[in-house]
Amino acid sequence: MLWELQELEREIAIKEDEMRKIPSVQVYRSQKSEVSSLQESLSSQQGKVEAGKKKLRRGEMNLQNVNASITGLNNKLYGGEVQSTRELENMEKKLSQLQAEQSEIEDEILSIMEELEKDELKTSELCQQEEKEQARLQKVKAQAQKELQFARQELAQLNERRIGIMEQLEAPLLQKYQDLSRKMQGQCVSLVKEGFCGICNVSLPSAFRARILTPGQLVFCENCGSLLVLGD
Ligand SMILES: [Zn+2]
Repeated sequence: MLWELQELEREIAIKEDEMRKIPSVQVYRSQKSEVSSLQESLSSQQGKVEAGKKKLRRGEMNLQNVNASITGLNNKLYGGEVQSTRELENMEKKLSQLQAEQSEIEDEILSIMEELEKDELKTSELCQQEEKEQARLQKVKAQAQKELQFARQELAQLNERRIGIMEQLEAPLLQKYQDLSRKMQGQCVSLVKEGFCGICNVSLPSAFRARILTPGQLVFCENCGSLLVLGD
């Protein structure tokens, strides 16, 4: 039973190691980080679009204000109210300034719109890519979950068997095994076959067989210190 326990514990250690390296789980993790970096670029791109829209609205408001000023000035200039030549000259000067400003704002709005269009296109591309990757990720996730679930079940079964054996062992013997296992870092029960120690392979004197068969007696290999059990 101690031998069985030892082998079971080895199997459990291997399974636990395998569980940490399940390929589909690793693929899922790396794809998940790709998707989240994609989401980050998407959200920063969306931020750029929002900022562009704000800039556009501001530009349009400026244009409206300038347009209103121009209309007001035109009405005054050609309404016949103002008679002074000097004042008329000043107003014409002001009008041409406003017209220059108007054309500048119009140019600015145009370039904002171009930029915005590019950003919106890029955003929609990123959005599509993100959706595609997300769908792919969900598939990988399902596979990874299935495989992880399976590995967990296997491990749970092994652990159940391990507990079953431990419950059948007498406490002092189990304690001895656990101490020895810790001391020898894992392999501490040796299966003797044809008179050889199963761990260090040393040839054991024939008297060992009888001693191992004596009930209640623990026999250890004089060379490696492992607990000997008969394997044949
Ligand atoms: Zn030995």
